[in-house]
Amino acid sequence: MSNSLFADANIRLERALKYVSISPSTEEKLQYPKSSLAVSIPVRMDDGSLKVYQGYRVIYNDSRGPGKGGVRYHPSVNLDEVQSLAFWMMFKCAVLNLPFGGAKGGICVNPQELSKGELERLSKNYIGAIADYIGTDKDILAPDVYTNEMIMGWMVEAYNNITRKISLGVVTGKPLTMGGSEGRSTATATGAFHVIQTILPKFDQKPAETTVAVQGFGNAGAHIAELLYNSGYKVVAVSDSRGGIYCGDGLDIPSIREYKENNSTVKDVYCQETVCDLRENDVITNEELLSLDVDVLIPAALENQITEDNAGEIQGKFIFEVANGPISSAADLILEQKGIQVIPDILVNAGGVTVSHLEWVQNRNGMYWNLEKVQQHLKEGMERETEVIWQLAREYEVSMRTAAYIHGLQRLNDAMGF
Ligand code: GLU
Repeated sequence: MSNSLFADANIRLERALKYVSISPSTEEKLQYPKSSLAVSIPVRMDDGSLKVYQGYRVIYNDSRGPGKGGVRYHPSVNLDEVQSLAFWMMFKCAVLNLPFGGAKGGICVNPQELSKGELERLSKNYIGAIADYIGTDKDILAPDVYTNEMIMGWMVEAYNNITRKISLGVVTGKPLTMGGSEGRSTATATGAFHVIQTILPKFDQKPAETTVAVQGFGNAGAHIAELLYNSGYKVVAVSDSRGGIYCGDGLDIPSIREYKENNSTVKDVYCQETVCDLRENDVITNEELLSLDVDVLIPAALENQITEDNAGEIQGKFIFEVANGPISSAADLILEQKGIQVIPDILVNAGGVTVSHLEWVQNRNGMYWNLEKVQQHLKEGMERETEVIWQLAREYEVSMRTAAYIHGLQRLNDAMGF
């Protein structure tokens, strides 16, 4: 595997370029992020000391509209990762035909080690550091790993204070009371659910006969596990960063969600007899979860979980990438040889940014939609683009990933290929 996530992300572009004729200038421009900003963020800690954190904001491309993408808080955040995530945002927005380019931000921090006050000062100071480069028509922020509605609220407040005017549309994923949209917090999982429900019937794979393992129990992972559980799928394993649990008869996902809300890790749920009938030896590692013999595997955590080192052990028939970049380009080839259907991140997890777009539209015109209208729009968009990519994969005889890149590339080329 390549050391650079960004170099690896570019390999997907190269694979798709073989099938699609785009202008040489588009091809050249797509190799590079438009702008990469690195900032130092000083934060006054509760004990009076001062700590400086490293932050980033990358606009990969803005040919189809302003930059758009989340902000990640994680101790492993670095510029290479943020550039890759911005690159994927560009493709995601093109695949869903949203009027946005691609961008991403991040701060190298473990937010669990910060008090609420420290987290607020970090978030607001990050906005202070990047305020000149973002805006409703420039670059729009959103949540990502370990950031949430509360943090988006702090960010929009900081931006409005700095610019001395109200620009709600500079951040999406805000609390409802601050201009957020109905359906945004569950949008990534709901979008992924529509993709799953569109793809599985093509293989005659029925919910009641489908076992599922979900890696990651954050916003996206926990919601997709629950949506599938509620629709009759048998979710047999879930995990978070500390480990997971497995039960061949299926897990009681609503109880596990409730447990996780009050406790730090899902793997200890076996201690609670009242929650699930689980035992200590039902605890599994994240590596074990990935190689379970299930029908559907859903990586919903971080990048590079399936690489050439463990791709040979994967037994799932279908992989739906709810995380960004969970499979390396080398692992792609191994999974393809094994006949595993991989449905790519730039389609599967695009529901989040699709509803972010609706939030931005609502903020701009001041009229707000009800949940039903948001859900309907999301469903239509996800189903439509899944079908297009499915057809392209048949037409070009390529994987769903390459088909998704072909689809995105055509739209990008239309906007920048002259
Ligand atoms: N962080 C999410 C993603 O990776 C959402 C981005 C957004 O809504 O702008 O797709």
